Amino acid sequence: MINRKKITKLLTTISLLIALAFTTTNVQVQAASKAVKGTNYKLKIAGKAQYKKCLGIKVNGKTVSSYAPSFSRSSTSMYSAYYVYSKNKTLGVTYSYSSKNKTITLKRGSKKITMYCEKTYGYVNGKKTKLPTPARRVYSYKMKKYYIYVPGYFTAKNLGLTYSWSSSSQSGDFKTPSTSTASSTGGANTRVKASSSKYSVRIKKPSGLGNGAFTTTDDYGNRRLRIKIKGNYKNYFATKGNYTIKTDKYFRSYSVTYSSGYTYIYIRPRKDVIKAYAVSETSSYIYIYYDSPTKIYNRIVVMDAGHGGSDSGATGNGYVEKTMTLKIVLAAKSYFDKNSNYKVYYTRTSDTYPSLSERSALANNVNADRFISVHINSASASATGTETLYNSSGYKSSSGLKSYTWSNKIHGYVKSATKFKNRGLVNRPGLAVLRNTKTASTLTEIGFISNKTQAKTMNSNLTVYGKAIYNGIINSFSSYPSKR
Ligand SMILES: [Zn+2]
Repeated sequence: MINRKKITKLLTTISLLIALAFTTTNVQVQAASKAVKGTNYKLKIAGKAQYKKCLGIKVNGKTVSSYAPSFSRSSTSMYSAYYVYSKNKTLGVTYSYSSKNKTITLKRGSKKITMYCEKTYGYVNGKKTKLPTPARRVYSYKMKKYYIYVPGYFTAKNLGLTYSWSSSSQSGDFKTPSTSTASSTGGANTRVKASSSKYSVRIKKPSGLGNGAFTTTDDYGNRRLRIKIKGNYKNYFATKGNYTIKTDKYFRSYSVTYSSGYTYIYIRPRKDVIKAYAVSETSSYIYIYYDSPTKIYNRIVVMDAGHGGSDSGATGNGYVEKTMTLKIVLAAKSYFDKNSNYKVYYTRTSDTYPSLSERSALANNVNADRFISVHINSASASATGTETLYNSSGYKSSSGLKSYTWSNKIHGYVKSATKFKNRGLVNRPGLAVLRNTKTASTLTEIGFISNKTQAKTMNSNLTVYGKAIYNGIINSFSSYPSKR
């Protein structure tokens, strides 16, 4: 159905389009000159026409010209998001604007700022944050055009850039920090830093690739490090002279692929060892240093979601053990992903089946400080409670933490979270994962899947148990810190 109101709207749109066609011609005649520093320009800001003195812009030391004059408002320098962030690739920022809800998005590496025109708050990495002054959609009478403006210091700081104001030159200077450490290899802080004097692989950056323009993934399951870069640099990175490898007995290969808009560089150490990586970058190079995990990380944990794939574990009352254990471990992972003090290796993060020997081998290969396997119990319909299994003749962690003490710690946290009957600690020296894992190891049995009420309670509290286990692990490291 088309009503009269809609027809009127359509006519208005048509006349607007005609008007626009004429305006565009006009703009082309006037568009020759960019804004000049120190000159006053008539702008409509927050609905009010006013004259503003144009400020200068510098990016990495170079003067940047813009059709949208920068200006000061509420003691904050405001800049065109497009002319500062989109036009200067060396800053490594991607800028997008959605006219639909007037949303501004700025991204640099893992950092993200979302702002809304004329709103006093925005989001920095998902966290609601008050702005010094709102981002604005400002009309330039000279250009007959709207531009999107963002506060300079606030945006630069939260994107990991430096910003300084020079009152003598009346310019704002945006800079890429000279060295930044990419810490996305699983998130954890490294004990050593890769640098020009400490690297296994050095990759020369192509011109225009700013800092923070890549992400790295420690794909330990496939024994490789993956570096992901937006754009097609396949030929560049595969060209000899653009990368340097210090081959040692652990080095296997360096390769480059391109797929769906991204270039991937793979660094593969030998398959029989798991190596950990420290990655850093300067404006010219990416440095990758690999070594054994204990040399790279302070605190290493292996988490094992019981069963998986063809092995469903126990089933009962419509629930499946392998699904529940995975959800618990992934809930813990969501907390570890935000805590860079820990490096956690997972025997599985999806519905796969690693063998029992692969599970303990992972812990042994990385020299884990802790190993925890998560399970759900099963017996009769009336069986109830939380219990934790340990091996009285099991190994200790390198810091001296015994499997029993470690199990007792985790048991305390899990039983407080379930509030089920306390079945206590049970000595099970014969269990493969407790017998073959050469560190403090434990196996938690959250509750009984065979008990209808308990199964239902567990299923709606899996993330609660994941968080309890996360807290138990953190707490155990404050009582038993790694000695290295
Ligand atoms: Zn099980």
